[in-house]
Amino acid sequence: MGDTDTAAIKHIIDRKGYAKRLQEIIMSDQAIQQTDVIIIGAGPVGLFAVFELGLLDLKAHLIDILDKPGGQCAELYPEKPIYDIPALPIVTGQELTDRLLEQIEPFGPTFHYNQMADSLTKTDDGKWRVTTDEGTIIEAPCVAIAAGGGTFMPKRPAIPGIEEFEGTSVFYAVRKMERFKDKNILVAGGGDSALDWALNLQPHAQSLGLIHHRDGFRAAPDSVNKMRSLVEAGEMNLHIAKIKELHGSNGQLEGVTALTKDKTELQIECDTLLAFYGLTMKLGPVANFGINLHENLIPVDTEKFETSEPGIFAIGDINSYPGKLKLILSGFHEGALMAQQVFRYCRPDEKLRFQYTTSSSDLQTKLGVA
Ligand SMILES: Cc1cc2nc3c(=O)[nH]c(=O)nc-3n(C[C@H](O)[C@H](O)[C@H](O)COP(=O)(O)OP(=O)(O)OC[C@H]3O[C@@H](n4cnc5c(N)ncnc54)[C@H](O)[C@@H]3O)c2cc1C
Repeated sequence: MGDTDTAAIKHIIDRKGYAKRLQEIIMSDQAIQQTDVIIIGAGPVGLFAVFELGLLDLKAHLIDILDKPGGQCAELYPEKPIYDIPALPIVTGQELTDRLLEQIEPFGPTFHYNQMADSLTKTDDGKWRVTTDEGTIIEAPCVAIAAGGGTFMPKRPAIPGIEEFEGTSVFYAVRKMERFKDKNILVAGGGDSALDWALNLQPHAQSLGLIHHRDGFRAAPDSVNKMRSLVEAGEMNLHIAKIKELHGSNGQLEGVTALTKDKTELQIECDTLLAFYGLTMKLGPVANFGINLHENLIPVDTEKFETSEPGIFAIGDINSYPGKLKLILSGFHEGALMAQQVFRYCRPDEKLRFQYTTSSSDLQTKLGVA
């Protein structure tokens, strides 16, 4: 092969390499989502912030580790009445969440559920980049941390050696039902999550058992009735007992030993254990974001609710300042003031105008009511 041929081939390879690199750049640009504000936490405060930001034409992406919006209201007390939301004499946690979703609908926020905001870094062009544990990357000039009491983490049952099986045979959440198809599943717990997943997975499982330490369930009565019908029909096994030991090797579960109230030992064969023993709240990755913390809370000023880092805000239960009250209405106020400062960062050349929704046709157009 002559020099000219070698050069020609090298040229083609370089061109191909260049094209590949170009494609990688295009791909990575597509993979990074851009917005005005990244809101970490889709609790009531994160949701209402979308409204206040939307009135100022600011777009938001929300990230939440839960599979739904509403934070504590939807996860911890969906059916409990709240009596101190202004102008709503009584509203349940779920109703409040639903109303907030309706209110922010005109602004079309982007939700990233089932994802934990894992890291917060600064980009070369001065933006903030949030990466989730699912690999989603979002960049924005501002970040609003509305993480409440932190991430909801499943409570790990006190069963010796359970860690060895976690992630292969023992799970605390169902992210994809497909994973549990044709498995011999044992669901542990007596609340809504345990009953809901037992009912949802039963048609897809090879076999499904439910184990709870007493013959009384905290779940919705309708779910309990459905579960009892399946047990009567022989399509689900119910064990009133406590798991004592797990059996198996190399992370693969083969069965459990359970203890009934009268200390009788039961051997239950299963290859998958789904344990729903409730949730606790931990600050989680927010603690590693490099922001000043005080007793696991984020100190902010009370003019803009900004943290020690310019462009990073903290609103709702996660922040602290003199006189702070951990109430939903406080978080709503904080979101409104934060939005003003976010506007200054995102639209430095535009004038911020104070307007009422009652009288501004501009705001009414944004809300779709004009
Ligand atoms: C039983 C009970 C009753 C209550 N009653 C009232 C009442 O009557 N009136 C009242 O005003 N308040 C009440 N509260 C308090 C109220 O619920 C909180 O003040 C409110 O939920 C705070 O809202 P938030 O959006 O700041 O946080 P949260 O509701 O805690 O929401 C924060 C969200 O952030 C998510 N999150 C956290 N970290 C991450 C991360 N790293 N990545 C992704 N997502 C993350 C969490 O999953 C969560 O969904 C009550 C609380 C409880 C527990």
